[in-house]
Amino acid sequence: MTVLVAGGGIGGLTMALTCHEIGVPVTVLESVREIKPLGVGINLQPNAVRELMDLGLGPKLDSIGIPTKEWALVGRNGNDIWAEPRGIDAGYNWPQYSVHRGELQMLLYHEVLDRLGPDSVLAGHRVEGYRNRAQNHQQSGVEVTAHDRHNDATVTLHADVLLGADGLHSAIRAQMHPGESEPIWGGAVLWRGSSMGKPIRTGASFTACGSLDQRFIHYPISPVDPATGLQHINWIAELTFDPSGGWRESDWNRRADLDEFLPQFEDWTFDWLDIPQLIRSTDEIYEYPMVDRDPVDSWVDGNVALMGDAAHVMYPVGSNGASQAIIDARVIGAAFLKRGVSSNALNSYEAALLNDMSALVLRNRGAGPLAILGEVDKRCGGVFDDIDDVLERSEVEAFMARYKAAAGFAIEALNNAPPTIAPQSTAP
Ligand SMILES: Cc1cc2nc3c(=O)[nH]c(=O)nc-3n(C[C@H](O)[C@H](O)[C@H](O)COP(=O)(O)OP(=O)(O)OC[C@H]3O[C@@H](n4cnc5c(N)ncnc54)[C@H](O)[C@@H]3O)c2cc1C
Repeated sequence: MTVLVAGGGIGGLTMALTCHEIGVPVTVLESVREIKPLGVGINLQPNAVRELMDLGLGPKLDSIGIPTKEWALVGRNGNDIWAEPRGIDAGYNWPQYSVHRGELQMLLYHEVLDRLGPDSVLAGHRVEGYRNRAQNHQQSGVEVTAHDRHNDATVTLHADVLLGADGLHSAIRAQMHPGESEPIWGGAVLWRGSSMGKPIRTGASFTACGSLDQRFIHYPISPVDPATGLQHINWIAELTFDPSGGWRESDWNRRADLDEFLPQFEDWTFDWLDIPQLIRSTDEIYEYPMVDRDPVDSWVDGNVALMGDAAHVMYPVGSNGASQAIIDARVIGAAFLKRGVSSNALNSYEAALLNDMSALVLRNRGAGPLAILGEVDKRCGGVFDDIDDVLERSEVEAFMARYKAAAGFAIEALNNAPPTIAPQSTAP
């Protein structure tokens, strides 16, 4: 009864902690030689935070994240379109966190090493493919080949189940769905960075400003330093181009230059936020063409399943990428508890989530909750004095409630849901 996980990102490491919690031996194969704290800010929705707390990570998560208090949309002229409380302030039993992706990954990584031992993560092992073994008395499970980058050698490992948590450019998905094209770019490019800035609004607000074609996202990922009055701000500047021209490769770590996008944001200064100044004060800026993949009709091939971005990479407009990777891991763990470490368990995970996630991928392609910015743009060019002249509040309320339900974090439903994995559960 063993599990191999391809990929030591947020999803793969949560999977390892979940297997350990329910008594299933697991090894993570991670392609990079050394896991480093890469990326910038991400948001964890309360449904994912609940799972990390159930794994006993609440206090550690709290030490690296900011509990988000507010989610706000702002027009091109800096006036409020919509603001709603988030996390505990919204009535959830669990907070929402804004956190540095790399710090979260390192937290999970160290937790895996502490709980499972130093050999539980094989860094420098790039998974290349798999072969389902015949289900008979001699052979079962799956054979996995990986390139050991330290020794430049091919290694073969066996397990009952392989989980492909290997992200956007998943090798497992490529084998499971041969002929699938490269990730699809819809025209938007994100420039991402983090720098020290003055708190705005609640000091823990996620703020999206502008329109669908040009927008700026701002949220803090550290508390205010009492000595300076500043906090670490994560920002994203986004522009949309004609996708027919193509763009550079989608790589989360590609460095970018200011000149490529700052001129378009040069006059985005409001009395409460100076966007060009915040961008200029940033040391490292990363570019990312916003890509996704068309949903597929299956995440499972025998004893192999896709999870996280490998299964359902989506536009990062609704803060669901990392959150859903965590949920996937927990739903797979729950399926192992019910059906054993088996293809049956993988099929029940797929049955529980595939349709909803496929719909969410497409919903996010339509800008997810940020679609409201597009509606305001359409009605008044994004410039207004009083939003009540442009939108009915009830329209937005209903839209946001539908989005939360689709993404699995409707308040009542989540608060009333039993734990995905009951404490002290052990796999059969
Ligand atoms: C370096 C990096 C930086 C990121 N920065 C941001 C960010 O700033 N903002 C944001 O919203 N999202 C970011 N993301 C994406 C975000 O982490 C994911 O959308 C989300 O966490 C889902 O997690 P995942 O575990 O499915 O995939 P990921 O977090 O992407 O993890 C996949 C892991 O698999 C490894 N891997 C890939 N191929 C193989 C292979 N063949 N064999 C073994 N291992 C393999 C990768 O090295 C990586 O560690 C980043 C991802 C990466 C890898």
